[in-house]
Amino acid sequence: MSDFEILLTRPLARFAQSPNHKIAKFSKSAKDATLSAVNLAFFGGTFDPIHRGHIAVAESATKRFELGKILFVPAELPPHKQKQTFAGFPHRMAMVALATEGHSTFVPSDMEALLYAQTGKPNYSLETIRTLKGELKKADKLYFLIGIDAFLDISKWHRPVELLRECEFIVANRPGYSLGDIAGALPEELRPKDEVLKAARNTSAGLASSGAVMAFSGAVIHLLEDVSERVSSTQLRAAAASSGRRLEGYVGDAVAEYIRKTRLYRAKSKSDQPAAAPTHATPVKKKSRR
Ligand code: ATP
Repeated sequence: MSDFEILLTRPLARFAQSPNHKIAKFSKSAKDATLSAVNLAFFGGTFDPIHRGHIAVAESATKRFELGKILFVPAELPPHKQKQTFAGFPHRMAMVALATEGHSTFVPSDMEALLYAQTGKPNYSLETIRTLKGELKKADKLYFLIGIDAFLDISKWHRPVELLRECEFIVANRPGYSLGDIAGALPEELRPKDEVLKAARNTSAGLASSGAVMAFSGAVIHLLEDVSERVSSTQLRAAAASSGRRLEGYVGDAVAEYIRKTRLYRAKSKSDQPAAAPTHATPVKKKSRR
């Protein structure tokens, strides 16, 4: 494989289902292992709060990659957002649980909080992914699901080259960003030369609509182009802070009700904080990256 390739391929599972595709003979045990294998995705984020953009990304990825499970993993201490103040982990986890109700393959996971409790340190995605892979069957396939805005920062993450080679990435489109910028955002070691980069920018922006896969020296990145939800947690926190704004339609009814009942994002003073939720906001000071 050359340094950089754009492959017009669809996920293997779909290909294998094609009636014209001849499946090679394999032993019974290999066949059984393949049959019980699962495609699954790790979907990490602050989820402060989880909103319909997150759900749209998960739904689109499920369809395209035939995912049997998506783990929604709220970060306990998102290292890249440590200068911000955000709702405590229990609130964010509760909202993820409410938002994923009714989606049998969307699974809320507190694995980052558990890792944090074990180590007392913020988790890097690389460690989380390696831990997760250690719990999977060999035949299972793990994807890293991420929006393009977050992916554009990947070279600032902890050991990004190793992370990119650890599992395949699915990068979802987000209004205001271009999937054509993916190659340029790669860490230097994986980034193609300037002339290739230019071609990649034009080609990938164009090819995104064909479900292209890009391969860069051991890193494989799938483009998920059909997501166009113009919503962010930042907007929703601002909307929730100003009284009377309805969040239904952006976060789902159960999450909207939860935010209203707990007055999450509205507390301005100590006396305003909900009695049942002492971890309302966690000021985070430590410095590090994901
Ligand atoms: P904030 O506004 O607080 O930065 P956010 O809306 O970006 O939050 P996060 O929880 O930080 O939400 O995002 C988790 C993951 O979901 C990231 O990979 C992000 O790129 C992706 N994501 C969030 N919203 C969208 C959206 N509307 N479309 C596509 N991807 C999204």
